Amino acid sequence: NRQIKLASRPTGEPKPENFDMATSDIPAPKDDEMLLRTVYLSLDPYMRGRMSDAKSYADPLEVGDVMMSATVAQVVESNIDNFAAGDLVVSNSGWQDYSVSNGEGVVKLDKDMANPSYGLGVLGMPGFTGYMGLTDIGKPQKGETLVVAAATGPVGATVGQVGNQYGLRTVGIAGGADKCEFAVRELGFDVCIDHKADDFAEQLKNACPDGIDIYYENVGGKVFDAVMPLLNAHARIPVCGLVSQYNATDLPEGKDRLGMLMGLILRQRLTVKGFIIFEEYGDHFPEFLETMGKWVESGAVKTKEHITDGLNNAPDAFVKMLNGENFGKTVIKVADV
Ligand code: NDP
Repeated sequence: NRQIKLASRPTGEPKPENFDMATSDIPAPKDDEMLLRTVYLSLDPYMRGRMSDAKSYADPLEVGDVMMSATVAQVVESNIDNFAAGDLVVSNSGWQDYSVSNGEGVVKLDKDMANPSYGLGVLGMPGFTGYMGLTDIGKPQKGETLVVAAATGPVGATVGQVGNQYGLRTVGIAGGADKCEFAVRELGFDVCIDHKADDFAEQLKNACPDGIDIYYENVGGKVFDAVMPLLNAHARIPVCGLVSQYNATDLPEGKDRLGMLMGLILRQRLTVKGFIIFEEYGDHFPEFLETMGKWVESGAVKTKEHITDGLNNAPDAFVKMLNGENFGKTVIKVADV
């Protein structure tokens, strides 16, 4: 049983020495447990926070723990009534080949599902996040302008496409021409802007002639700096993530802009609301699955995955994802179904 563990806490960008590849015996399930074999594992930005011991909404990993992650797994052997050998499930098995589970938080997938890995992306936690953040906090109204960065990632791509369903003008932001082209052609964004362009702020302004009504915050940093002056009165900002800061070791360069931001919140009467998906919205997961399942099936919502083969490539793929070197939902294929 191969396992990737947290070897030490990273400073800045995680390095190979922060991870430790170990092996252990395949665990044996007890009376009320099952043995799971990992097929796909999900790499998500939040895992960077769990590697650090800074205060957060969830406890950090301890040094020596197996790296955490949602997984698609196959039941090898089950002593739990509702699960049988051969079932495919979404579990939280972490970065390892085998794990035991008591079934808590484990969701069964349809055995005939064409793409089980979607259960980690568009039909899983990231898709759910984009859907709930936009609809519940963003409160979309037809004709309004929505801006979202990391537009080709699983959260941003969902936000943009759900925005299209609500009749919004959708403005994506992504890193590089290929991603921007894909966002418009495949995902249906009205326009997508490359945040690496020298005149990024100018381009964003031109793309939002009527200002911004919903800014779905995924990244922070210079994207938010460019968004601030364009926010309309009563704009909504679901604060979902700040991925540009996750590897940061210092405050951003330049003058303190907090006073300016507070003034803007007051004058423009902004709604700025953070949320942690399952804590806020866990009960809504079935309703999300039903709606999103239909949209994915009909092609109204499309998805792109960035799949890397091999458990041992997880650390490298994780660092690349945080830097934007992924193109679509980052998944590691650990084994065949
Ligand atoms: P992605 O797969 O989209 O990966 C992160 C992307 O962020 C990169 O691909 C890159 O895209 C972009 N990025 C990285 N650095 C910068 C930067 N300096 N400036 C602008 N963009 C940058 O991630 P997810 O879709 O999985 O997650 C998106 C956000 O949602 C994250 O902040 C994550 O933490 C958050 N999240 C929050 C949850 C919650 O419950 N609140 C739940 C799930 C996710 P590009 O190359 O296009 O710039």
